[in-house]
Amino acid sequence: MITLINNPVQLKRELLKVVQKELKDEELKVAKSDWHSRRKPIGCGLTIHPGIGCPMQCSYCYIYDMGFSVHATPYSLSGLQLVAALLFNKYFYPTRWGTYLAFGSVTEPFLPNILPKTLEYLKAIVEYLGNPCQVSTKMVINDENVDKLARVGGSKLSILVTVTSLSQYVYLERRAPHPLKRLELVSKLRRKGFKPFIFIRPLLPGLRAEEVDEIVEQAKASGAYGIVVGNLRLSPNIVKRLISEGIDVTKYLRVDLGKLKSGFVDVRVDGDTQTLIRERALSKGLIFLRRACCANTVSQLLSGYNDVACPSLCFLNEKVCEKSCPSQCKVKAGGEPKQFNFHEVIREVLGFDEYEVEVEGHTMYIKLKKPLRDEKSASFALSYLFRRRIRFIYE
Ligand code: SF4
Ligand code: SF4
Repeated sequence: MITLINNPVQLKRELLKVVQKELKDEELKVAKSDWHSRRKPIGCGLTIHPGIGCPMQCSYCYIYDMGFSVHATPYSLSGLQLVAALLFNKYFYPTRWGTYLAFGSVTEPFLPNILPKTLEYLKAIVEYLGNPCQVSTKMVINDENVDKLARVGGSKLSILVTVTSLSQYVYLERRAPHPLKRLELVSKLRRKGFKPFIFIRPLLPGLRAEEVDEIVEQAKASGAYGIVVGNLRLSPNIVKRLISEGIDVTKYLRVDLGKLKSGFVDVRVDGDTQTLIRERALSKGLIFLRRACCANTVSQLLSGYNDVACPSLCFLNEKVCEKSCPSQCKVKAGGEPKQFNFHEVIREVLGFDEYEVEVEGHTMYIKLKKPLRDEKSASFALSYLFRRRIRFIYE
């Protein structure tokens, strides 16, 4: 299997054969029909659900509007079934160059009754797939569990510890541990060799300069490597809840309430607040990032994988890519991809070998003589694995 590490497409097929032998037919059937076998990666990666629901009821949380409960239930798939579900997913590829996996999303992955499933999933992913994983949390776990996490996830596991406010958390995150306790977890994680980041998500409008200073000070003191800012996802209910907690988002943002009626709107609090956080973070020697996937990339970089580059191609977007970031993905991702035998990977994805390739800067032009069956998936796979833009040209 080791020899296939340079060809994640072929490796995926071989791994599926292995897993199919290890699971019973019924277990495989469940894995194949599970959402993890169909979901497409979003910005932070493909979301992994070790549980569903959350009792924390943070005011800005969107999961209740999606129909999830205030009771957290561990996810039903076993670790090996999750691996199978991912291998059935046409958007997923294994190895560290493959799909980024983001734990949480519709639960809190370190809740006491969810943590065992989070650990089980991490263990299975590390053992079979080797993908970069990221956990975002606002829970506090004890030393024993930090040790377990280090054993199963390894120190390149990217951990984001959420701190949105030091003064208003009692209103916004009333059931979550105190932010200073979360920062103690950051110190523990750092001592264990992890590369923890503070996650200011959602970045709330109206965060005062003094509070930004305090968060940055505390982040530095805790041993965090840096700060990542994240979107605020709004729905009519979230707007109402935030207003009732004293944060009238409509005052700060141009929120189209009409649009909100038909679902969610992701709002990025740009401008002054973000600039201030960036300035303060950099002045303290912290890394500042605008995307969770970038923190995953940087965690790997800091763990010694110097060739990493962000698979969402954030580095091609000047508004997203942070110029002081140590990863410098744009420099590394130019020219022909070096991480694989790239012709082998192209052939596997296209399913034939009548093509020609030219790479210019960060774009790979693939000339084809016949149409592809699923151009979108092929483009997605090649772009993700090569960290290049893909353009198909029909001759
Ligand atoms: S802890 Fe996370 S999942 Fe739970 S309510 Fe808060 S934001 Fe939502
Ligand atoms: S160099 Fe840019 S794209 Fe790469 S991890 Fe850093 S911020 Fe993200």
